[in-house]
Amino acid sequence: MQFLKSLHSKNISLKYLFIRRELATIFNGHQLANKIKREVKEEILLNQSFKSSFSPQFVAIAVGHNPASKIYLEKKQEVAEECGLKGQVIHLSEDTFESKILGLIHDLNEDPSIHGIIVQLPLPLHLSEIQICNAVHPSKDVDGFTQTNLGKLMQKTTESTILPCTALAVKRIVEELKMITLGKNAVVIGRSHNVGLPISIILGADMTKGGFDMTTVSCHRATPTHQLTRACLGADLIVSAAGVPGLVNKYLIKPGSILIDVGLNRIRTAAGKNIVVGDMTKDVNEVAGVVTPVPGGVGPCTVACLMYNTLLAAKLQNL
Ligand code: ADP
Repeated sequence: MQFLKSLHSKNISLKYLFIRRELATIFNGHQLANKIKREVKEEILLNQSFKSSFSPQFVAIAVGHNPASKIYLEKKQEVAEECGLKGQVIHLSEDTFESKILGLIHDLNEDPSIHGIIVQLPLPLHLSEIQICNAVHPSKDVDGFTQTNLGKLMQKTTESTILPCTALAVKRIVEELKMITLGKNAVVIGRSHNVGLPISIILGADMTKGGFDMTTVSCHRATPTHQLTRACLGADLIVSAAGVPGLVNKYLIKPGSILIDVGLNRIRTAAGKNIVVGDMTKDVNEVAGVVTPVPGGVGPCTVACLMYNTLLAAKLQNL
C-alpha cells in the first residue's frame, strides 16, 4: 500500500509499470509486392485495350558469372512473366570489352520494342560502372541509375520520375505503413549513390514533391559508433542499407520505431548452411514497432518496383 501511495505521489500510473511490450509487427513484403504486381498487370491490360501493340519489355545485360546475379535475374524474369511483361537477359563473358557493352546499349537504346535496359551489377572490375550505367538512355533507365534520373529525384519523386527500384520499394513500404512522417526523425545507414543516398533524399524531401518531410540523418562507414548509436536511438524510422549483418540490434533502437532492413547478406552458419540475412539482428523485434524481414521484406518489393518502372518507361515512351 505504501508502495502504491509513493507511486501516486510521484504521478506514476500503474499501467506504465505493468506494460509488457508486444513483439514488433513483421511487415509482409510479399503482400505489398503482390499488390504492386497486380497494379502493373492491370495497367498493362488497360493500356492494351487502347493500343493492342502496347507490350512493355526490358533487357538485362549480365557480364561474367555471378551466382547471386543469376538468381536475381531469374527472379526478375519470373516476376515479369507474372505481370504480363517481357523480360530477357543477354549474357556476356567476363572479359567483354567496355566498347562492346556500350555498343550493345546503344543498339538497345535505338530499339523501339525495348522499353527498359538493366545493367546487372556488380560488373567485373575492368569495366566502369558509371560509364556503362550512364550509357542507358534515361527514358529506358528502369533501374534509375543514370545521372539524369538520379538528378531528377533531387527535384521531385512523384509518379513520373523513374526512381531506383530499392528506393521506390522503401517509399512504397513507408506509404503502406501510413505512418505520420512529418516532424519525425529518420536514419539511413548507407550512402551509396543508387541505394542509401536516394532513400535519404526521398525521406527528407518535401511532401509536395513526393517526399516524406522527415528530418533525415545519413550514416555510413565513416560515422563513429557513438554517433550512429545516438542517431538511431532518436529515430522513428531506421533504414539500413549497409550490407553489414548484425549492424543494428535492440540496444540501438527506440521502442516502437519502424525498421526497414535493406541489407541482403549471404552468410554461412556454424552448421555450414548458407543463408541470407539482413543488417538487423532478430532481437530488434523485442523493441521495434514494425520490422521488415530478410528475406521477404524489401527484396520482393524491389523486384515488383522494377516491373512498375518498366511499365512507367513504356508509358513515357508511348506518349
Ligand atoms: P549498396 O549498393 O547496397 O548501397 P554499397 O556496398 O555500395 O551497397 O554501400 C554500402 C554502404 O554502407 C556505404 O555507404 C557504406 O559507407 C555503408 N557502410 C558500410 N559499412 C558500414 C558500417 N559498419 N556502418 C555504417 N555504414 C556502413
